[in-house]
Amino acid sequence: MQNYIAGRWYDEDDSLISALITGVLNGESVYEVVRTYNGLPFAFRKHFDRLKRSAALMSMEVPFTCKELNSIILEGIDKNRPSPSGDLRIRIVLFGNGENVLPAVIYALLPSVSKDIYELGVKIAISPYTKPSGAIVDPRLKIPGASWNIRTRKNLGDNYDMIILNEKGNVCEGSFSNVFLVKDGRVITPDIGSGVLPGITRDNLIGLCRSIEINVVERPVAAWEMFSADELFLTHTSVGIVPIRKLEEKILIEDFTDGMTRLLLDNFEDYIMTEDSNWSGL
Ligand code: PLP
Repeated sequence: MQNYIAGRWYDEDDSLISALITGVLNGESVYEVVRTYNGLPFAFRKHFDRLKRSAALMSMEVPFTCKELNSIILEGIDKNRPSPSGDLRIRIVLFGNGENVLPAVIYALLPSVSKDIYELGVKIAISPYTKPSGAIVDPRLKIPGASWNIRTRKNLGDNYDMIILNEKGNVCEGSFSNVFLVKDGRVITPDIGSGVLPGITRDNLIGLCRSIEINVVERPVAAWEMFSADELFLTHTSVGIVPIRKLEEKILIEDFTDGMTRLLLDNFEDYIMTEDSNWSGL
């Protein structure tokens, strides 16, 4: 792979970022992860806007316009795409360095998703780590050093992800995903006030529900509600919708041939591929 770092392309083995950069030394950095579909960066404008907001919350400026960053991303896709059908996961990191901001764009193959995930669902649990209140860390900030996410990921065991609660003990999100409940035909997800990262897949899922007239509610969600839900699923960029079979030791659902999660899975790709806001605004 070829990676873009502070104005130059490097072979993967030479992509070493100097430890002298302030952002590396003191954690002054923000990031985004973008994926491609058929070689095109998905929802790039939305990722760029979220990156810009994270950067602003760290008093950093993004050293590109959306269009400039998009052309670097496209150049790297051209250099790194393994085959016409291969897709990539692209991590964009901004490091603060005094008055400057140094960008790095790191390419990797998009891991292939086992069909079992969609057909059998995954196991999740509740994380022992809590996301700090918005008064301490702005929940919209996407930063590499979020200890509650890092520690949750290190302790996953046989769980796909773990649900992190907020400072009130309500449901917040996974360490790399947003969470949705299905109850009595409604789709429910913690609202932005619950401290969630405004996930781009979450946003698309809400849009999909509205487009097919499924009642979708954003509100505070108590942790016990997950145990009485009819269905649960996660959303995140690289996989989309992830059905949940088991929460802690409780089996929720064993058969994903019908139900709300199946309906949403069946319609998701069509929705995101045709929803204009995922492909415009560059
Ligand atoms: N919540 C957290 C803490 C995340 O790190 C992520 C993705 O990395 C998400 C939610 C899902 O966001 P998206 O759908 O934009 O990938």
